[in-house]
Amino acid sequence: MNLLRGAVRTYAWGSRTAIADFTGRPSPTAHPEAELWFGAHPGDPAWLETDNGETSLLDTLRDDPEGQLGASVRGRFGDTLPFLLKVLAADEPLSLQAHPSARQAAEGFAREDRLGIPVTAPNRNYRDASHKPEILVALEEFEALAGFRPVEESIELMRSLAVTDLDPFVNLLVGQPDADGLRALFTTWITAPQPDLDVLVPAVIDGAIHYVRSRNTTFAAEARTVLELGERYPGDAGVLASMLLNRITLEPGEAIYLPAGNLHAYLQGVGVEVMANSDNVLRGGLTPKHVDVPELLRVLDFTPASDDLIRPTITRDGMELVYETPAPEFAVSELSIDGEHLGHEIDAPSRHDGPQILLCTQGSTVVSAKGGSVTLNRGSAAWVAADEGPIRLAADTPTKLFRATVGI
Ligand SMILES: [Zn+2]
Repeated sequence: MNLLRGAVRTYAWGSRTAIADFTGRPSPTAHPEAELWFGAHPGDPAWLETDNGETSLLDTLRDDPEGQLGASVRGRFGDTLPFLLKVLAADEPLSLQAHPSARQAAEGFAREDRLGIPVTAPNRNYRDASHKPEILVALEEFEALAGFRPVEESIELMRSLAVTDLDPFVNLLVGQPDADGLRALFTTWITAPQPDLDVLVPAVIDGAIHYVRSRNTTFAAEARTVLELGERYPGDAGVLASMLLNRITLEPGEAIYLPAGNLHAYLQGVGVEVMANSDNVLRGGLTPKHVDVPELLRVLDFTPASDDLIRPTITRDGMELVYETPAPEFAVSELSIDGEHLGHEIDAPSRHDGPQILLCTQGSTVVSAKGGSVTLNRGSAAWVAADEGPIRLAADTPTKLFRATVGI
């Protein structure tokens, strides 16, 4: 077992303080730090701290796949770690996006290969042949847009903004208050000529300003989101689309699970994200990056659902809080050492074989396994190879460990 140093990714939407504070480095940092990757992604693998210096997790898996991943994970996913764990710190909104299903990803990857689009080209949608289900667990309060909300609520929100220019679109939804209506409306907006958007989006922003000033509370968060997105992307159809999506605030420990086809945008906050090891993203706006509208429309799931359907069921199993998610690539839980467990070594529950990534989010603990022991403090992580087996934990202060393993 080794300490695992994550790879810091700097993007413009990141934070100069959150990841540095979390990992105990000086802040503010020179560049906004957006993500901290713990995984074996070829683009930016994490690093194992060994007696002989640092080794990339990617190289370690390549040299010893059987010991690191175990026979069953190798049999199911080949010689790669099928998931990627990230700490994500968003000071600004991320792009509006969705991810393809396994079948869509396989087909899309093959199609773009046939068309001769290089895998690294900016207009390439499918950089690998895998789906990309993801779960986000809030470490601090986290704001997101995710999934089309029940249609009646979207109608009520748009009426509350009192924007005459929205009337035909409200009427469209009133006439067809279901997934087909949402598809028709979203398609109309996302394919609208720019001059139309340059009139409609500012009108909606005006409506949101009046709404916020009126101190009306029902849709205050939604109206503020329209303003924030509109300020950065004044003619972007994504500002309009935000009115159709669940506006979710997660408290620490709460989560959202984003299956294939779910339209989402992270707005602000710090969280831990675990996803299948894929780069397949179809963007719908709120970004200067490549946007492929027809392909996005092909993968989107327009089924309206309230936000509690996007939150995974969380079950407690002794010291372990399990986030129930269906993706085979990963399983996510939180181990808490508290109360009677403090002050002596205890066996952590072990539901999965295969490797584990442990990330300490609070307190301090000694983690022991066959391959020795390490001390984890807030912001530090460990890699437990498959052949190192179940872990034991010892802590003197209340401690929380985030755990990612391969799913069943
Ligand atoms: Zn996503």
